[in-house]
This record gives sequence, C-alpha cells and structure tokens, in this order.
Amino acid sequence: MANKREYYETLGISRNATDAEIKKAYRRLAMKFHPDRNKDDASAEEKFKEAKEAYDVLSDERKRAASAGPGDGGFGPGGIGDIFDTVFGDIFGGGVRGGPRGQRVFRGADLRYDLDLKLEDAVAGTTIKVRVPKLVACHECHGSGAKKGSSPVNCHTCNGQGQVRMQQGIFSLQQTCPQCRGKGKIIKDPCGVCHGQGRVRDTKTVSVKIPPGVDVGDRIRLTGEGEAGENGGPSGDLYVHVNVLEHPIFKRDGTDLYCDVPISFATSTLGGELELPTLDGRIKLKVPPETQSGKLFRLRGKGVRSIRVSSKGDLLCRVMVETPVNLTRQQKDLLREFDRSVNEGGKQHSPQASSWLDGVKKFFDNMTH
Ligand SMILES: [Zn+2]
Ligand SMILES: [Zn+2]
Repeated sequence: MANKREYYETLGISRNATDAEIKKAYRRLAMKFHPDRNKDDASAEEKFKEAKEAYDVLSDERKRAASAGPGDGGFGPGGIGDIFDTVFGDIFGGGVRGGPRGQRVFRGADLRYDLDLKLEDAVAGTTIKVRVPKLVACHECHGSGAKKGSSPVNCHTCNGQGQVRMQQGIFSLQQTCPQCRGKGKIIKDPCGVCHGQGRVRDTKTVSVKIPPGVDVGDRIRLTGEGEAGENGGPSGDLYVHVNVLEHPIFKRDGTDLYCDVPISFATSTLGGELELPTLDGRIKLKVPPETQSGKLFRLRGKGVRSIRVSSKGDLLCRVMVETPVNLTRQQKDLLREFDRSVNEGGKQHSPQASSWLDGVKKFFDNMTH
C-alpha cells in the first residue's frame, strides 16, 4: 500500500485540501484517464486505478477522522496531525493563489532545527542563537529573479495566470502552465546572483526564546523563519525541536528531579546532615540514624516547573551507602574488631540480613517437606 503522502501527490493536492478539493481532484483525474476515453493508452488505466485508490483511502480516512471524538489524539488543535499538516501541507501542494493579479505564489518550506539544551537552561528558560542554513530571498534582485533594472514579464502562454485550460472533447481541464511552471511570469534577463531563482542558500542566525520548563520533545514555532517563499509567497516557519542533554547529577521526570547521593557508612549509621545540590542552590538534608542504603528522601517543591504545570515538583534523593576503599592496615584492624563486636550482638544489629536469612531458612525447610 502506498503511503498517505503519495495519495495526495497522486491526486495533485496538498494535505490541507478540503474534502471538496479531494473530490474535485479525483473527478478531474478520473475523467482524464478513464479507460473509455484512452483506448490507445495502456498507462491511462493504471493512472485511473491509482487515482481511485487514492481517493477511496483519503476520503475514507477523512470520514473516520471527522467522527473521532476529542482525546482520540492526532487531530485536535496542536495535535500531531495538525502540526504535520501545517508543516508539510504546502510543500507537497502546488502553491496557492494570492499573488498580484491572481498569480500563483509558493509558500517557503518549513524547517526543523534540533536543539540540544542543558537541563538548567530547559528548566530556567533562556534565549539561544542558532544558525539555520536555508533559502533566503536573493539580496540582489529582492526575490524577483530578474536582473537589476529589469523585471519579470507576464507569461504569454497563460497570460500571467500560471494555469492553462485544455479542451478535451466536452471537458475543459485546467493545468499548470508548461511555459512558466505555474508562476505566471517569465524572466528574460535572469539575476546573476541567484540565476533567476529569486532565492539563494544562506545561513541565518535566529534568536530562539526558550520558555522556562520545556522538556524533551517540545516544539517551538518561529513563524516566518523557514525558507523564503517563491514568486512573492510567504516564508515558511521554523520548528525548533527541543532535546535535553543528560545532566551529571539530576534526572528529570516531568516536574520531579532525581539524584543519587553517596553517604558514608558512619553517617548512615549515626545520622547526620548532608548538603544537597538543587538546580538553584544548595539545601540541607537531615539523615536520621540507622538509614539504610537506597532510602529515598522526598524534598517537596525542590523539583522543577513544566510549561504545562505551574506548581513545582519534588526533588527525590536516594542515599547510597558507600563501601570504603583504600583502607590502611590500622583502619582494617579497627573494622575487623568492630565486626566481631557486632556479630556478638547477633540479629539486633542487622535487620535486613536477619530477615533475609529467615527467608532462606523457610525456603530450604519447605523444600525438604
Ligand atoms: Zn537574484
Ligand atoms: Zn505561463
């Protein structure tokens, strides 16, 4: 099965086409390629079938999309479907009317820029300058494509309309003008800089305002910062896709931040105070005596805000008891002495080990029965 984009292309319409436009495009192709009217052309029947398949699939899908309730995803305002129609709609379309004297103008392509942000910047918001390679209006001819001092003239074939009518039997078909390729203008004396294209490749520096709280997958739209339009058409848009780089200390999950904090065996046993980092300064955490490794402490309101939720999340710190390394002989002796003393005390000093050993005992007891 062909993909959706190909169906739109088959019908020669943009993805923004209305239901009526889909129907109209299909009828036009069906009449043009109908086998009865193309007896000597084997490829016509193939094209007729393709048009029918495209029409069936697209019209069917529109019906289903229209009946889908809110929350079905993809079709609501701001949904993926909406955004991608906006992004790609005009790229595959044949341009829109709207230029002077009804000429066809072509909207510039939308662009995507993948931006890697530091966690701090994503949380606090910032302004970042990015360099975007794109097609811009030619500075020499200001986008007209004609040499300085001259200007494009109306195409004689289509009288500047960009479209020609072809009479085929009783049908009148409208087609893109083959002479000017839909622009309605002919450039007799092309601009030397852009060679008549009206646009040149360039790299532009664009300031992107990052709102506080953005996260991986968020998109920021900069209207008119995409590629320059053709024939006086509007520029496309620039979509900045946010990616957040890994942070050495924190992991973010929505509005919560997570971090692991190593503590010494002595502090975990006797209790103490830890100094913890947050994204905006240091805070103190009281560790109670007899804290086990892996215990999670929740510090309310020390997380981050998202662009969707105004209240701050929490900071969740997991303490990890660290095994000491590089001990001196004397330190090792002290530890052995300590261990003997603890063992003499028995179960009461090792709550986890004793409950684990109980479990192991039960397991083996059950096996022998
Ligand atoms: Zn130029
Ligand atoms: Zn023309």
